[in-house]
Amino acid sequence: MTEQLLIHPAVDSGIALGDSRFRGGKLVCKCSDKPAEIEVQENSSHNHICGCTKCWKPEGALFSMVAVVPRENLTVVANEAKLKVVDPTATIQRYACIGCGVHMYGRIETREHPFYGLDFIHTELSPQSGWSAPEFAAFVSSVIESGTDPKMMPAIRQRLKELGLEPYDCLSPGLMDVIAAHVAKAKRMAPTVD
Ligand SMILES: [Zn+2]
Ligand SMILES: [Zn+2]
Repeated sequence: MTEQLLIHPAVDSGIALGDSRFRGGKLVCKCSDKPAEIEVQENSSHNHICGCTKCWKPEGALFSMVAVVPRENLTVVANEAKLKVVDPTATIQRYACIGCGVHMYGRIETREHPFYGLDFIHTELSPQSGWSAPEFAAFVSSVIESGTDPKMMPAIRQRLKELGLEPYDCLSPGLMDVIAAHVAKAKRMAPTVD
């Protein structure tokens, strides 16, 4: 019997379809006492599996699962005092619970950033279902940085394809286009130096 390659608990035994009528819900950290809670008043979008070393991953998972929501639709509703920014120098300010370590949300404060206005969330922290389903896998090669044997990569990419999560080593082409269009626009607006 070959050992099952575990990607993330939300995808390993099949991906739950999102519900287009779903309009958000709560995200709760893993503390049994006084959990931090967030309320999101919109469904997530661009949900994906991420192999980068910065996103929060549940125990034993090779990848994280991360989506975005407009920042105005996200509110901390309980135990905000437990949330602390993991790395204040990072572009994405990831608010983690000091009790259980779970990242509750990530926020970009740089107005020039292509994704400014969007918060990053982990929909698996919600007791509700209906959140948008993961669509692709980003930063796949980065799992090597967190200790995966490079020899495993063909099997990992194969498994992601089986799950219908196209593997990319950066973001998906659609999101890379959004970033490039933002950079091009910023260049056109900048005064020429010569
Ligand atoms: Zn907690
Ligand atoms: Zn990531």
